[in-house]
Amino acid sequence: MFGFLKGLKVTFAQLAHKKVTLQYPDQMPDFGERFRGIHKFYPEKCIVCNQCARVCPTSCISLSGSRREDKKLHIDTYDINFEICILCDLCTEVCPTEAIQMSDQFELATYSRVDLYKNIYWLDENARRTDGVIESEGNQDSAVGGEK
Ligand code: SF4
Ligand code: SF4
Repeated sequence: MFGFLKGLKVTFAQLAHKKVTLQYPDQMPDFGERFRGIHKFYPEKCIVCNQCARVCPTSCISLSGSRREDKKLHIDTYDINFEICILCDLCTEVCPTEAIQMSDQFELATYSRVDLYKNIYWLDENARRTDGVIESEGNQDSAVGGEK
């Protein structure tokens, strides 16, 4: 009986508190600055050092680059397999130029496993979308340049 009354006390105390639930997806949550959502990528900052791919515990990053007229290495392809990415943040921690960063985007639900492979175009677009450069259209399945 005492336990029951104790439970009721907690229930009634909560009735007076402000609601913490949101009407998602109509209402989006506010994420903290250090929220670890899916990645955004800035190709122009990447020096193709490969550190992100080497540190990744699940080996879900693959990339390639080439030397161009300015004698510098430039990124050509950058892919993340979100089927196995654990959003651990290690790749962004080691990146010396902050070319790869975590964003506040988290909506990756899809009917196809293939859609969980995101390439340089998608990741670049995610950077511009989450930075507010281009308009957000919810869960994006298409990528810049028509690739995925
Ligand atoms: S967040 Fe972790 S698992 Fe995902 S790509 Fe980066 S290092 Fe790999
Ligand atoms: S994203 Fe960063 S860590 Fe990865 S290859 Fe480019 S510069 Fe190096």
